[in-house]
Amino acid sequence: MPIHDTLIIGAGFTGLGAAIKLKQAGVDDIVIVERSDRVGGTWRDNTYPGIACDIPSLLYSFSFVKNPTWSRAYPTGSEICAHIEDLTDQFGLRQLIRFDTEITGLTFIESTGVWTATTKGRKRFQARTVVLASGPLADHKFPEIRGIDSYAGHKIHSAAWDHDYDFAGKRVAVIGTGASAVQIVPELVKTAEFVKVFQRTPGWVLPRLDPTMPAAVQSLFAKVPATQEFARQVLFWGHEASATALVWKSPLSSVVARIGKAHLRRAVADPWLRRQLTPDFTPGCKRMLVSSDYYPALQRDNCKLIDWPIATLSPVGIRTSDGIEHHFDAIVFATGYDVHLSGPPFPVTGLGGRSLQQDWSGHAQAYKSASAHGYPNLFFMCGPNSGPGHNSLLVFVEGQLDYLVAGVTTILDNDLRCLDVREDIQRAYNQQIQRRLSRTTWMSGCNSWYLTADGFNASMYPGFATQYLRQMREFRYEDYTAVEREAGRRTTPVSRTATLA
Ligand code: NAP
Repeated sequence: MPIHDTLIIGAGFTGLGAAIKLKQAGVDDIVIVERSDRVGGTWRDNTYPGIACDIPSLLYSFSFVKNPTWSRAYPTGSEICAHIEDLTDQFGLRQLIRFDTEITGLTFIESTGVWTATTKGRKRFQARTVVLASGPLADHKFPEIRGIDSYAGHKIHSAAWDHDYDFAGKRVAVIGTGASAVQIVPELVKTAEFVKVFQRTPGWVLPRLDPTMPAAVQSLFAKVPATQEFARQVLFWGHEASATALVWKSPLSSVVARIGKAHLRRAVADPWLRRQLTPDFTPGCKRMLVSSDYYPALQRDNCKLIDWPIATLSPVGIRTSDGIEHHFDAIVFATGYDVHLSGPPFPVTGLGGRSLQQDWSGHAQAYKSASAHGYPNLFFMCGPNSGPGHNSLLVFVEGQLDYLVAGVTTILDNDLRCLDVREDIQRAYNQQIQRRLSRTTWMSGCNSWYLTADGFNASMYPGFATQYLRQMREFRYEDYTAVEREAGRRTTPVSRTATLA
């Protein structure tokens, strides 16, 4: 069995980005495994009506993959998928991908410094370094609502849309009012007989200004790429500034609240509905919702917001705690994902047989979100505490790419058996992260998927993107234990990219 230089798990945005950057750094022996038959990750899997990104396309893309032809400010899901397909071909990545290959386990062989991956088929892969790019929102599950199995109508989860189901003339429920629901509801009301939206917590909704990209601008971006980069920078700094309102509670948070309330006042005339839709938590605590058609959709004659708690599902529909039974042909669960806050959905076995799932069963921890002690030569994409609340995820991912390229090339160039982050360094880093997190809006009392059931935040980065990028540009070798492959001696590695300016 060949031992590859790098195994990348997942062919979504982040796994493909890792392959591009590693190839550019001279790492050629790369294999990418993908459980599906296409690239695209969460954007391939989520195809619900109305799907689009709530971060502008110029920022929700890699700075090193130019696409001057984005059709509008906020890209639709299908446009993002097409872009991911394009970059796969543009950078010659397709031949590196093994499709329909689902990893079932990953084990580090200490004596050789090689990771072995088992798959659902009988195929195995070996590699000296691994990039875990399977994504935190790759899987979904139905929520644990009483009576859910008794419901006899059609159940659809937002993350696995049933395109064969015809909503025309149907009585439909949507459970959930998060980022997915505010995109789905305006589409469903166009076809369904009626839609009832079951809200547990009203969120902050900001208007979405989504102009189409004029042909002249597209042509300017194509001819003078610096103009597109300039536009990206303007968006980057605009989002960066919003951290002062969304990541930390400040006077600017009340400005955001005022904008949200003004949007609600302008869009919703009925004072009772306005009251039902008014959030009672600090803006930013949950993900901000961006939509200009959600409030109008809720006020259509065939739509109704229900904010009585759900008591149980019944064979015919949903019974709320006021005793009313609502009858439905279909229930759409826009209730979120099976978020992987405790590691990827397969066992990972590190030094001395330790298990990542066990190590993280309390709370997930990594160093700079990228390395975990006891799991050498392994790099996490979107690892613990790497999530942004105010800027593009892909900006943060670019920092992770810089970091893993420094790590992987150091392991290969120095012929290391093992590059393992020190436990004391990881602990100190996480103590500092948790201290900083305690001052953020995410910890201000609302309930969100950012937190574990016991209220621990293992998902968000408590700072500006610029701070995150700065820390990721510096790969500090003194923070790691390095062992040579041949002699088995501890060593101080030399790097070509230790500090990426
Ligand atoms: P979400 O934000 O977690 O929202 C889930 C919704 O379902 C919430 O309103 C929640 O209520 C409700 N809910 C969950 N369980 C429930 C239950 N048992 N009974 C009643 N209501 C229940 O999930 P999502 O909308 O799928 O979005 C998840 C994440 O995906 C987002 O935060 C974002 O990161 C990503 N996303 C991004 C985009 C984009 O445009 N870039 C679009 C969609 C999703 P509570 O609020 O009371 O918990």
